[in-house]
Amino acid sequence: MKTIKVNIVTPDGPVSETEAEMVIAATEFGEIGVLPGHIAMVAPLQIGALRLKNGNSTVNVAVHGGFIEVRPDVVTILAQSAELAANIDIDRAKLAAKRAEEALKEKKDDLDMQLAELNLRRAITRIKVYEMR
Ligand code: ATP
Repeated sequence: MKTIKVNIVTPDGPVSETEAEMVIAATEFGEIGVLPGHIAMVAPLQIGALRLKNGNSTVNVAVHGGFIEVRPDVVTILAQSAELAANIDIDRAKLAAKRAEEALKEKKDDLDMQLAELNLRRAITRIKVYEMR
């Protein structure tokens, strides 16, 4: 099977440089599957799981927004933060989810609520990706 290069980059540096037969990403316009030779495109990403498929094995990555840039031979993910499933600290994610849920219950101003909602979405994505290992 042909593969496509996949580079995942955050402000802290590269998270992963690998190859995949197929990349599945949750963009703001819906889920896309990218195979080698895909037409060039750029799309904003949702907070969600990125899936890198090779044969029967899948590597899952928690990606927290950002952009996917597709070129025929390389996919670049540029995100504020991203973690491979194997690097997720599940206790930290569960604590973050609990903190965010408590903040949402306090019903503070709009900005605090929006921030708490984003914190919760990041934490839930980390928990899901950890559980998908
Ligand atoms: P927390 O409240 O636990 O810090 P957060 O959602 O505010 O979570 P971010 O601001 O998204 O954290 O990320 C800060 C840094 O910590 C990033 O480098 C991110 O990859 C890392 N990180 C955050 N949570 C986890 C986790 N549960 N496991 C591994 N790395 C994490």
